[in-house]
Amino acid sequence: MIHDFLIIGGGIAGVSTGAELSRLGSVLLLEAEDALAYHASGRSAALFEAHYGHPVTIELNKASHAFHMTANGGVLSPRGLMFVASATQADSFAQDVALMHLDEISPDDARAMVPILNPSHLAMAAYHGAAWDIDTDRLLQNYVRAIRDNQGEIRNGAKVTGITRASGLWQVTATGQTHEARVLVNAAGAWADHIAALAGVHPLGLKPLRRSMARMPAPGGHDVRRWPMVIGSGESWYAKPDAGAWLVSPAEEDPAEPHDAWADDLVLAEGIARYQPFVTEEVTRITATWAGLRTFAPDRCLVLGPAPDTPDFVWVAGQGGYGFQTAPAAARLVGDLLSGRTPELAPDTVARLGPARFA
Ligand SMILES: Cc1cc2nc3c(=O)[nH]c(=O)nc-3n(C[C@H](O)[C@H](O)[C@H](O)COP(=O)(O)OP(=O)(O)OC[C@H]3O[C@@H](n4cnc5c(N)ncnc54)[C@H](O)[C@@H]3O)c2cc1C
Repeated sequence: MIHDFLIIGGGIAGVSTGAELSRLGSVLLLEAEDALAYHASGRSAALFEAHYGHPVTIELNKASHAFHMTANGGVLSPRGLMFVASATQADSFAQDVALMHLDEISPDDARAMVPILNPSHLAMAAYHGAAWDIDTDRLLQNYVRAIRDNQGEIRNGAKVTGITRASGLWQVTATGQTHEARVLVNAAGAWADHIAALAGVHPLGLKPLRRSMARMPAPGGHDVRRWPMVIGSGESWYAKPDAGAWLVSPAEEDPAEPHDAWADDLVLAEGIARYQPFVTEEVTRITATWAGLRTFAPDRCLVLGPAPDTPDFVWVAGQGGYGFQTAPAAARLVGDLLSGRTPELAPDTVARLGPARFA
C-alpha cells in the first residue's frame, strides 16, 4: 500500500500532525520506541502559558488556546503563574514582568498564595492567573483516537533506519519492513536532523538541550494542589505542583546529543541551591528525577512546513519547550499547507515558521 503521509515520530508533534493529516489522506505513523511519548513528550512540565517563547511561538500558543480549552471537553485546568525575585534581581524581574504580561504583587500577597516563600529573601513577586496545566496524556490520546477513527495506522517499535526516494515516492525502512509514501513528515524531535540526513535533505542545525526535574513530597506537608507554578526570575529555576507532590527544575539548557536523557545530579543540586533560599522548607528528600531534551532551531522558533528543495519532505520540528501548548495550531498549519487551504495564521507568521528561512 502507498500511504499519502508517513510520519516519523510518536511524540506530541507526530500524533497531533497525524490527526490533522488523517483527515486529508491515509496516514502511517512510525515510532521507534514501544510506547508513544516516551521521550520529550513524556517528560514535560505540562504548562500552557500563552506568553512563553519566541514571538512567533506566542502566535501559535494563542492560536492553540481555544482548542486546548474546548476540544473533546478540553484539556486545561487552572494553575496560575508567579515569578519571584531577590533584591539583586530587579533588572531580570522587570524583563519577566514585561515579557510574561504579569501583574506585580507584594511579597505578602505572594506568600498568601505560596506560604513557603521566604520573607527574608523574597523582594519582588508578580503573578497572573492565565496559565493552565495541560492534561498531556488526554491530549495525546485524543489525537491518537482521531488518527485511528480516520483509519490511520500507528506502529510502535518501528525505528526508521533507511530512507530512499524513487519515482516520486519515499521508501522508508523500519525494523526490516519497507513502507512507501507520497509525503514524509519529520516529527522525530531531537532526532529530526538525523532523519533529514537519512532522507538526503539538508539538516537545520537543531540543538537538543537537556532540562532536568526532581519530584519531592509536598513541602512542609502543605496541600500544594492550588499553588501556582513559581519561577525564579530569569527562569533560573521553577517549581510546580504535580499530583499532590512538588516538582523543582533547575531550568537548565545544557546541549546534548539525541539520546534517552536522564537528570544530571550536579545540575539538579545547583538548581535546588538556587531555589532553596526562596523557600522556608528545606529540600530533604527527592522521590524521583528525570530529564528530557527540548530541541530548538537556531532561532528558537518551531519549523513547520515543506523543505524548500524537497517539498514532499515536511518539517514538524524545533518545538523546544512549547511542543504541547503549540500543538493544535502547529498541526493545523501543516494540514493547511499540505491541503492547499489558506492558513488561519497570518502570512508573515507562516513564513517565519517555514524551513525556507534557513535556506
Ligand atoms: C523538562 C521539560 C519540560 C517541558 N515543559 C513543557 C511545558 O510546560 N509545556 C509545553 O508545551 N512543552 C513543554 N516541554 C516541551 C515538550 O515536551 C516538547 O516540545 C515536545 O514533547 C516535543 O515533542 P516531539 O514530538 O517533537 O518530540 P518527542 O516527544 O521527543 O518525540 C519524537 C519521537 O520521535 C521518535 N523517533 C526518533 N527517531 C526515530 C526513528 N528513526 N524512527 C522512528 N521514530 C523515531 C522518538 O522515539 C520520539 O518518540 C517540556 C520539555 C521538557 C523536557
